[in-house]
Amino acid sequence: MRASRYLIATQKETPADAEIISHQMMLRAGMIRKLAAGLYSWLPMGLRVLRKVERIVREEMDKSGAQEVLMPAVQPAELWQESGRWEQYGGELLRMNDRHGRDFCFGPTHEEVITDLIRNELKSYKELPANFYQIQTKFRDERRPRFGVMRAREFIMKDAYSFHVTAESLNDTYQLMHRTYCAIFDRLGLDYRPVEADSGAIGGSASHEFHVLASSGEDAIVFSTGSDYAANIEKAEAIAPAGERPAPSQDLKEVATPEQRTIEAVSGFLNVDASATIKTLMVRAEEDENGNIGLIALILRGDHTLNDIKAEQLEGVAEPLTMATDEEIELAIGCKAGSIGPVNLPVPVIVDRSAAHLADFVCGANKEGYHLTGVNWERDVPLTRVEDLRNVVEGDASPDGKGTLEIRRGIEVGHIFKLGNKYSKAMNATVLDENGKSAILEMGCYGIGVSRIVASSIEQNHDDKGIIWPEAIAPFEVAIVTLNAHKSPAVMEAGEKLYEQLRQAGFDVLLDDRNERPGVKFADMELIGIPHRFVVSERGLAAETLEYKGRRDEDKQDVPLAEALPFLI
Ligand code: ATP
Ligand code: MG
Ligand code: MG
Ligand code: MG
Repeated sequence: MRASRYLIATQKETPADAEIISHQMMLRAGMIRKLAAGLYSWLPMGLRVLRKVERIVREEMDKSGAQEVLMPAVQPAELWQESGRWEQYGGELLRMNDRHGRDFCFGPTHEEVITDLIRNELKSYKELPANFYQIQTKFRDERRPRFGVMRAREFIMKDAYSFHVTAESLNDTYQLMHRTYCAIFDRLGLDYRPVEADSGAIGGSASHEFHVLASSGEDAIVFSTGSDYAANIEKAEAIAPAGERPAPSQDLKEVATPEQRTIEAVSGFLNVDASATIKTLMVRAEEDENGNIGLIALILRGDHTLNDIKAEQLEGVAEPLTMATDEEIELAIGCKAGSIGPVNLPVPVIVDRSAAHLADFVCGANKEGYHLTGVNWERDVPLTRVEDLRNVVEGDASPDGKGTLEIRRGIEVGHIFKLGNKYSKAMNATVLDENGKSAILEMGCYGIGVSRIVASSIEQNHDDKGIIWPEAIAPFEVAIVTLNAHKSPAVMEAGEKLYEQLRQAGFDVLLDDRNERPGVKFADMELIGIPHRFVVSERGLAAETLEYKGRRDEDKQDVPLAEALPFLI
């Protein structure tokens, strides 16, 4: 590809509303553009990466014996009524009508559609086990779309669904998918961890999530350094004793304005006067549909009084809610946000000690808890919930007492479930078994966030100059930067020649033949994150050399002109 005829839509400035590195860099490197909340266009440069991720996912799924299908994104309500999810699914389901007034939804997932397909297509146990997958656009009307394609409303998912007559067969495919996911994430060059997950709401008997480790991750995962134990925080919490949970307290509907309620709540919570100066604080007040205020998280830095906290100013004084997820805070405070009166909240147990933003909030921590200090208040905070987890999980995972329990942040990039017969039973999906009897199908389902992976990779691979793509998913593997080619036919010619040579050898090459200053070209290639860079210059040609720099290299080196290809291989 020639850069002079390609959309290199790089930007110098860091976009103000992009909170995390991957979002900033995808915008700055010209990979994506926002259309509306949670809706993004993929520009040519970004789409190349997305397609490479897709290709790896597809190759490994094919290798596992799964069969690719493509189902409609728009789904009729009848199927969702049959499974019961038309009522249960809630606000994330985008519902719509056709011109005849019939109900449809834009698919957030495809259990219903595939179950309908399979109940009509498969008749006998002899056709099983079978696993079908697609790579396709989903829509979820996320409450808080954020971080660019990381939590979008429209996004690309690989979803697979397997069908079986026996639980053993389901187990085999589940294990196969587990291995396949590891192969996929290995090839993608991600630092990830499979963890046990709670299969609660979806049903079924087993579930694992695959998390990319990153400080910006919205999930907390718990693992033992001394054993194989690894779980997401909800799963770990589920096996922990209930502990002290606060009773629902006062009804806040009485209090007039959201601001007053917020101040009331926060001062009650902290046990301080509303005019007290707060140096750093992490609490957020949020109102649910019924007007109840729940505290979630508000991260203030610098000196503020509680009177500063006006609902309409939250954006201004509070850091964006990057770190604390609803689930995490729910875990911390022990009850659902929105359903609680905040005054009786227990102190916030900080679930993840490693989160950087806590550094100036948590002024001291020991085994018993945290010591928090504001300007004119201080407070000891017990470590109850985390300690609960620590004891129980440790007891379970390393009876010998070896290893310590770590809680890290993760980005969920994959999720596998044993669904059992939840959908097949509700939708009467059966085949004839060995005895000629009708048997309800056993099902598994397996998701991967294809577009989320692109952002996750950047979270793990970047420096202050830009993205550092792993070769497997780099938009281009090699950049050839020609210097002053517009004045030097020799440079132009040598650049073109190298470009053809590397392309013919199978490399994805971007020839930066733009009439731009060298500094601009270098900065763009680094921001875009191309793994290998050759520079063709008059000075180099005189010595019959090219200048080479790997994206992670500190130094440049000269490579003989004739040896560029063997050097790369
Ligand atoms: P999350 O907990 O992040 O909301 P989920 O558990 O709701 O994800 P699943 O139903 O398990 O998601 O879907 C399979 C995969 O799809 C997820 O593991 C994730 O990688 C991806 N995914 C889910 N929601 C989104 C989204 N809003 N934007 C991008 N990818 C998503
Ligand atoms: Mg979700
Ligand atoms: Mg999840
Ligand atoms: Mg999930």
